[in-house]
Amino acid sequence: MSFTLDEDGYAIVNFVKSFFNLKSESKDSLIGKKNVYHLRIKKLFYRWIDKSISEEDLIELRETLYRDNNKQWAPLGTNIIQHKTNCPQLCRYCYNIAWKHRSEKLEIPDIEDTREMFCTDEKRVEKVWTTRKKANLYIFGSTHDIFPEMIDDYISVARKVIESGSELLIVTKPNIVCMKKLCKELKDLKDKIMIVCTITSNDKDLLEYWEPHAPLYKERVECLKYAYDQGYRTSVSMEPYLSDPRKVIKDICRYVTHYVWLGKMNHCKELEFDEEQYEKLDGLYDEEYVMDLIKDLRDNEKVFFKYSMMRAVGLTGKRLVKSK
Ligand code: SF4
Repeated sequence: MSFTLDEDGYAIVNFVKSFFNLKSESKDSLIGKKNVYHLRIKKLFYRWIDKSISEEDLIELRETLYRDNNKQWAPLGTNIIQHKTNCPQLCRYCYNIAWKHRSEKLEIPDIEDTREMFCTDEKRVEKVWTTRKKANLYIFGSTHDIFPEMIDDYISVARKVIESGSELLIVTKPNIVCMKKLCKELKDLKDKIMIVCTITSNDKDLLEYWEPHAPLYKERVECLKYAYDQGYRTSVSMEPYLSDPRKVIKDICRYVTHYVWLGKMNHCKELEFDEEQYEKLDGLYDEEYVMDLIKDLRDNEKVFFKYSMMRAVGLTGKRLVKSK
């Protein structure tokens, strides 16, 4: 007999999963502790929106924005790419490509010229991860995606990092071949992992322009559902969202055990875009639009905001000056 879940079925499974997740995670896992932290910041942020935040809580919120800055998800990242090569997804907004151009004078790549430029860093693949005194949460890969050509190396390093005592956020614009392999080979370590699928829009034209080598919407949702069905923690990154994110959120929420992150595009000045395509994003990151999203999505317990969204509506980070 075959058995498939409809939308209501997923809602029930999700409720049960999140109940047990929260119960079991909050004590010892780093991912669980981070969950408590994200919930706290979200609560303070909505108090700030409502103008009901206390002075003490506002200091905590602004200090967190200042201190964490681009480390909102995890304090550390690791990767297995040779530093002087690029991630072959070649997303047109990629901060990492811009940064390598700025710091290493690496050329901004031609998007037709793809896979050859990615080289695995053997030293990083072979690195021994000794048992850590203090466990850490890592984003892996912090500067590249995951591809069939390097999936075996990726899995072997992921295993070493986790077996050294740490936990992983696996962040990817996923393809189904890699997702199936990942889920199968890391099954015994799944309580140390969260899979974060980046799904920036459901609009084919936008995806084909901005993320020309990444899988399209349908495949990414299929990957998310697959990871969810295999019992992994799942989240979605919509950073940057490339169109109204509400429809995507409605489609994917049932396969998300933890977060749907909304974030703005970080426009790096080195990168040039087609004017007509860029105009399609017009208004999406304006203060008024962002504030409407934040208010509309307030009752969705899975939606969280990157600091870029908080800044877009006027919240600023501030360093805490400790009194002597
Ligand atoms: S997948 Fe990530 S690292 Fe790779 S090109 Fe796109 S934005 Fe850059």
